[in-house]
Amino acid sequence: MSHTNVDLFERGKAVMPGGVNSPVRSFASVGGTPYFVDHAEGAHVWDVEGNRYIDYVMSYGPGILGHAHPVVVDAITAAVAEGTSYGAPTLGEVEMAEELVARVPGLEMIRLVSSGTEAAMSAIRLARGATGRDKIVKFAGHYHGHADPLLAAGGSGVANQGLSGCDGVPDGAVADTIVVPWNVVPELDDSIAALAVEPIPANMGLVPAREGFLEELRDACDAAGVLLLFDEVITGFRVARGGATERFGVQPDVWCFGKVIGGGLPVGAYGASREVMGHIAPLGGVYQAGTLSGNPLATAAGLAQLRQLDDEAYTQLERTAIRLADGLTAAFDAAGVAAVVPRVGPLVGLFFTDRQPTDFDEAKAAADNGVYPRFFHGMLERGVALAPGPYEALFPSLAHEDSIIDETIATAAEVAQGL
Ligand SMILES: *Cc1c(COP(=O)(O)O)cnc(C)c1O
Repeated sequence: MSHTNVDLFERGKAVMPGGVNSPVRSFASVGGTPYFVDHAEGAHVWDVEGNRYIDYVMSYGPGILGHAHPVVVDAITAAVAEGTSYGAPTLGEVEMAEELVARVPGLEMIRLVSSGTEAAMSAIRLARGATGRDKIVKFAGHYHGHADPLLAAGGSGVANQGLSGCDGVPDGAVADTIVVPWNVVPELDDSIAALAVEPIPANMGLVPAREGFLEELRDACDAAGVLLLFDEVITGFRVARGGATERFGVQPDVWCFGKVIGGGLPVGAYGASREVMGHIAPLGGVYQAGTLSGNPLATAAGLAQLRQLDDEAYTQLERTAIRLADGLTAAFDAAGVAAVVPRVGPLVGLFFTDRQPTDFDEAKAAADNGVYPRFFHGMLERGVALAPGPYEALFPSLAHEDSIIDETIATAAEVAQGL
């Protein structure tokens, strides 16, 4: 029996909140019915009705080689026949940890977990345990997964302490979280364990740091003995071999990873220097554990993917992103549509406004002006799948060949004319 998207959405909504397992997939912010994916290959996904889309969602980051890359498929297939989880250490975990540590300047030890959320949650615990301090500082509009202490007032650009932005997160859980505006160096003191930052913020649209800002954060942290935490769940192994750390030449004290390192399977990781990681059990008093941590399928997939990511791959990825960003910009200009297409390395954003936002308040004003849903649906109807929400980046992959980018740009030009 063949399925339709509408039927599956109805069935899904009866048994899952919003019909989905992660809110943005529900199309709540763009309206309409989600496409239910049947299968994917390279730069394309096919829905259950047989429609093909050029995919810029790419699972929000893991799919850097494109979907179902043969090297990753083979690695998972080989691993699955050997058993799927043991509760004992494996060669794959050692190799994965060695690969991550070798790539990132300053990173000496790593702990594998099962999601980016778990990585960020554990990294905060580590920072508190290592410093003996309770408070953490995060920037408005930066996303670090959905652990309670990191869900504080993401909705305000104003410094804002002790208010949860989410039902079910008690104010007590965020009482030690301080939210500050992006692109302004916060005041730090000796009550603060960590300053968390997305070095290239890509969860409020793409809102890069101003020139020299990451260096200023490094200095401010050093002056107050605060650990600088780079959440590289998106940027890690995407924006350079050694992530944002290598790209900007600024070393944090603690890192979070996810997405790319799992090759499409559920993985996260957090790491630091040998000294800081010495606080993690069994070496130290910060407890953190996981039944499926370092899972053999996930390490096989992640390693296979990472081993494809050489210098040439990063050059190609960036060239692709430049072609996409320049082409989209030209298409909007030609149609007289006010839009900015920010790009940092291989990451591309899109705001329907005439000036690049520099903080969360500006990003929100640009994202919520009602243009994005119309552009989104115009693209989707013509076979290009963007993220179903205005706060996400576009994720061109190594499978997005020039012809696919050009097809995307031609489609955008047509949709832009109708906006
Ligand atoms: C996706 C993301 C997370 C959360 O990762 P999950 O695997 O979805 O839990 C954390 N930080 C950043 C920067 C992310 O983009």
